[in-house]
Amino acid sequence: MKTCTKCGATPVIIHRKASGQMLCKDCFIESATEKVLRNIRRNKLIERGDKVAVALSGGKDSVMVLDIVNSLYERNIINLFAITIDEGIEGYRKHGVEIAAKNAKKLGIDHRIASFKDYFGKTLDEILHNESRQHGACTYCGVFRRWIINRVAREENATKIATGHNLDDETEAILMNYLEGNIDNLTRIGVKSEPKNDKFTVKIKPIREIPEKEVALYVIARELDVHFDECPYSRESFRGEVGRFVKELSVNHPTIMYSTLKGFDKIKPAIKKEFSGKKVNMGNCIQCGEPASHELCRACLFAKSLNGEQ
Ligand SMILES: [Zn+2]
Ligand SMILES: [Zn+2]
Repeated sequence: MKTCTKCGATPVIIHRKASGQMLCKDCFIESATEKVLRNIRRNKLIERGDKVAVALSGGKDSVMVLDIVNSLYERNIINLFAITIDEGIEGYRKHGVEIAAKNAKKLGIDHRIASFKDYFGKTLDEILHNESRQHGACTYCGVFRRWIINRVAREENATKIATGHNLDDETEAILMNYLEGNIDNLTRIGVKSEPKNDKFTVKIKPIREIPEKEVALYVIARELDVHFDECPYSRESFRGEVGRFVKELSVNHPTIMYSTLKGFDKIKPAIKKEFSGKKVNMGNCIQCGEPASHELCRACLFAKSLNGEQ
């Protein structure tokens, strides 16, 4: 019978092929938590006195972030609140928003829910049925979500925005940008953002070194409420294809995601030095006042064209 590599207990709930480690439930939770806290410490993601905004979708990744970052809140090291974006996706989002609210309430932390409809007048579903649309679902979603999160974080005086990017997401992003030759995007991937404008809040990725499978196992082991539904639009993207490819490779090469990430982090300073785009002089969007490198920010540009004004 398999026994826990750390404490000898049974049953074992995970066999980490990459390290050979076998862990019981308690040792797994401890190990995953410690890994996330180590990432936070080593990269100075969160420091005493920070006010952290967790971008909480209700999915497993953001719920794990909230659960672990909450331990710092409970110890009075930081302040904490959650932001949930309601994109307006029929049959999918409502459930996520409810789960997010439940998690925030259980921990007793402030929760802000902000919808595409409130800020841009249209749900994502409506945007995709709009005759004037020129981009895929993920493009609109990404631009509008970033705009809202940035706005709300500033209104609430957050000093950090924590997102639920896991190891699979990061590996996907690195490979995707390599494959597309998008070196400028590559220079922006990292554990902590370095905003070009002080109207942008620093973004951090506490669970960046945790594989997606372990995130799922963590929320199950901790008996946390999450929704496992997949966004109905996610299959539209090239990112999804790359993700499936990386997962397939990982079956026979269990360390491939770690090595992609570690390798990338090593060469990133060099890529950044060589290829980082010229510092654009950021002004403010004439419509909404958010930082923008043109007259209108991308969100306002999109909103305008969806209203047939262009
Ligand atoms: Zn154990
Ligand atoms: Zn704008």
